[in-house]
Amino acid sequence: NVQPGNLAELLKYTKERVPAFVNTFGAIDSVVVSAGAGAIALGFPVVVDIDLGENQVPGALESVTDHNETVKKSLELRNIKIKVKELPIPVAFAAAFEGEIIRRADMHNEMWSNKNPTAELVLMKDASEVEDHKISIIGPDLDEAKEMALVTYVEVAGKKMQPDFESVIERKFHAWYNYMEGVMHTGQRNQVRVRVSNAAFEAGLRLKHFAEVLYFMIMDEFEAVVDKCQVTLITDSEKAAKFRDQVAMPRYDARDDRLASMTDESVDRYYTCILCQSFAPAHCCVITPERLGLCGAVSWLDAKATNELNPNGPCQPIFKEGCLDARTGRYESVNKAVAAATHGAVQSVTLYSLLEDPMTS
Ligand code: SF4
Repeated sequence: NVQPGNLAELLKYTKERVPAFVNTFGAIDSVVVSAGAGAIALGFPVVVDIDLGENQVPGALESVTDHNETVKKSLELRNIKIKVKELPIPVAFAAAFEGEIIRRADMHNEMWSNKNPTAELVLMKDASEVEDHKISIIGPDLDEAKEMALVTYVEVAGKKMQPDFESVIERKFHAWYNYMEGVMHTGQRNQVRVRVSNAAFEAGLRLKHFAEVLYFMIMDEFEAVVDKCQVTLITDSEKAAKFRDQVAMPRYDARDDRLASMTDESVDRYYTCILCQSFAPAHCCVITPERLGLCGAVSWLDAKATNELNPNGPCQPIFKEGCLDARTGRYESVNKAVAAATHGAVQSVTLYSLLEDPMTS
């Protein structure tokens, strides 16, 4: 943590950790020069659109007179790499839409477990059973019914795929559906609510676009383990209920049973989860076999699989070392990991006590 008044550390922090740059357009006056000098001091390069000739300072002050190249050069100077995804859907797709609420008055469709059967399931299959990019919609589309069932069933195959990765992929449906502008998703497994706005429907959004989003995102984010993927959406109420009861529920139960047979003593490591730092910057969960993350959606097996899929990702292993108090579950290694993950905001936690350093948000 940078201490107040430590200018050198602050400048180092902004240079190394804040990926900002400055673009100026048009003639440069004394105000722009002063502000630009300040930005350069903070480590933010300035790209101007007039020719500064030999007054340029490589990496700090550069001229790009072709506006088509301005952004490219600026990103290059900060080493920012952008992955461009072209999704074949008629609405915008971005993390910015994740918190979007669709109110009843703006709603065109609703698929909600309280009214109709719902389920979300990823299953690992043999490569011969999966036809890559096959999309099936079984039942009415968004223009044929207002309220309906929704089963989202994804079958994946891959040489490096493992059954433990199924639920990790499944958990991402929530984010990906929400990324669509005009779509709201809450819940998981058989407790799901999805709403589609009038505006998204008018723009042409239909169920096949939901399937396209899943296909593209799975093949992009999980390319290391998924070679083939097919998506089936079931909105026919009877078929959805049958799928939920005969295929999805037994699979959820099997996963839960596997976890239930594990104890905190039976493993050599726990995991951090810092997924929620996108909106709670000093938050960290410690996931153990007997303790899910605060959201209830990340189990120890999920955290383990997340770490295997993305070794630099949100779930990092904490080896069980330096037990200070077995009764309250106080470990040196856990404290160290939490202090590092929360940037010093939380220094000490217990795994089992509500009264002494509890793990709350
Ligand atoms: S386990 Fe904790 S950090 Fe991870 S998603 Fe759940 S609440 Fe957020």
